[in-house]
Amino acid sequence: MTTSWNQPPVLKVRGLKVYYETPKGDVLAVDGVNFDLFKGETLGLVGESGCGKSTAAMGILQLVTPPGRVVDGEVLLEGHNLLGMSEQALRAVRWIKLALIPQGAMNSLNPTMKVSAQIKDAIIAHEGKQANKGIKPRILELLTMVGLPGRVYDLYPHELSGGMKQRVCIAMAIALNPTVIIADESTSALDVVVQRVVAQTMLKVKDALGVSMIMIGHDMGLMAQMVDRIAVMYAGKIVEIAPVKEMFAEPKHPYSQLLIESVPSLKERKPLKITEGITHDPRNPPPGCIFQLRCPFVMDICRVQPPVMRETNEGQLVACHLYPESVDGSLINVADVARNP
Ligand code: SF4
Repeated sequence: MTTSWNQPPVLKVRGLKVYYETPKGDVLAVDGVNFDLFKGETLGLVGESGCGKSTAAMGILQLVTPPGRVVDGEVLLEGHNLLGMSEQALRAVRWIKLALIPQGAMNSLNPTMKVSAQIKDAIIAHEGKQANKGIKPRILELLTMVGLPGRVYDLYPHELSGGMKQRVCIAMAIALNPTVIIADESTSALDVVVQRVVAQTMLKVKDALGVSMIMIGHDMGLMAQMVDRIAVMYAGKIVEIAPVKEMFAEPKHPYSQLLIESVPSLKERKPLKITEGITHDPRNPPPGCIFQLRCPFVMDICRVQPPVMRETNEGQLVACHLYPESVDGSLINVADVARNP
């Protein structure tokens, strides 16, 4: 399935803010995130641990729990804003329209239930008892789609390898044919070989069903092979979005550059770059650019003025004062335009 760049996005996230309350003030975990997701697209959301990737996913799904709270923003799924929907309305959206493959998903399976019973429970919880009719062939088909043999139907989670358990979680996520799947670091607990195989299965299934996917992770090497576009996140904000080819050929934001330079290469032996410095206190971000404390190119303006997102090349958006002009010489607000790579 090819990505429908010319259609309106299936998911639009605008100004999403999720804060965590602490005795010493709010932690600005997600602080004004904007992006579009197109039909059939795989968007990689990358950044170091604690940058807000998973919290953004929870914000999109409206699954943030106290002390966290969604402070502001819009999450428009096929035009309907999920923020402010009743819990009952949200239940009709989750799994059916918007499915999650959570972090450590393979440990989320119930050890006392057979695989078939767990998939069946997920289907019946949303479709009602009438789904019972013909459910066995449906579950077997789901298992086949994720590359599992039919015998897995009658097995318990402890009888499966890590990769197989992860495939069961993918089968559960696609069971109700969602519009969007969010895969939150869903392969990071697996060894590198199995990780790649499972990620490829995820993409194969996604393409077969025409689903859009947000793949959250920190492995730029894996992202390079799996996604259409990459959004780089730092300290609660997206600092660059670009088609994967452009991101690797010419990353614009200094943080994106450092992330890519930290990917080990088998072809070229070179010292790995580390991002020097420490992140600011997330309860008290500095005025100006959030990356200023670690940026090798910091300028005076960076300490006083937050950079706005500009389109420096077709489809490549960056928030950095090193790029004062957009591709057409004007300022572009990421919240106002749909970006086609
Ligand atoms: Fe570095 Fe300034 Fe760009 Fe921020 S705005 S990334 S501090 S050059």
